[in-house]
Amino acid sequence: MNTPISRQDDKDVSIEEKLRALYELQSVVSEIDKIKTLRGELPLEVQDLEDELTGLKTRIVNLEDELKGLETAVKNKKIAIKDSETLIAKYTEQQNNVRNNREFDSLSKEIEFQTLEIELSEKRIKEFNVEMAEKKNAIETSKALLKDREEDLDRKKGELNEITQETRIEEEKLRSKSEKIESFIEPRLLTAFKRIRKNARNGLAVVTIQRDACGGCFNKIPPQRQMDIANRKKIIVCEYCGRILVDKDINVVEAE
Ligand SMILES: [Zn+2]
Repeated sequence: MNTPISRQDDKDVSIEEKLRALYELQSVVSEIDKIKTLRGELPLEVQDLEDELTGLKTRIVNLEDELKGLETAVKNKKIAIKDSETLIAKYTEQQNNVRNNREFDSLSKEIEFQTLEIELSEKRIKEFNVEMAEKKNAIETSKALLKDREEDLDRKKGELNEITQETRIEEEKLRSKSEKIESFIEPRLLTAFKRIRKNARNGLAVVTIQRDACGGCFNKIPPQRQMDIANRKKIIVCEYCGRILVDKDINVVEAE
């Protein structure tokens, strides 16, 4: 009925001491959990903002490249128009010196063609200008958003730094304390502790009995089992949630 997590391999360490170490370890890691909760979503939010900033910067660079491409295209169309105008002037001049109607008509066709070319170029320039205005708009919007996000990032980073600095020393102390306790606990038991903790809500692997119930899942524990737990002769886990159960006085007896 009772599920021993480990055999008592180490004869020097009593089950009671193991239970006490586990309970103490739980208290320390719970303190670390509290600090992490204090930091909350900030580290994730900072990361998200940094990703967004990278995306925005890339977008702006791309838009500016596209804008430059359009500017070049407009320039080229303007050159083409000038070229067509030069040709039209040349053909018009030549029409004054034709020898026959065929030559005149041929030049007229060329002039007509170049005129159409100019109209087409002007149409394209208009389209390019519309596109350019859109790009410029998008660049401006993106830049404004970038500025906003940079301010957000600065603020979040500041908040995170503040919390991290406030809690850093405390966290380091707790971490070295937990490492020290861990070194007292046999590897198999420690692995079990970590596994239970990972699967348990609130990160609680070791819980006390509260009002005749498991302090983790609040299922009732039969009196006989409560007595077994109070005896501290076996490592007993809750049959509902798998957490290690200790009596609530485990850490007050023989204060260390
Ligand atoms: Zn339970």
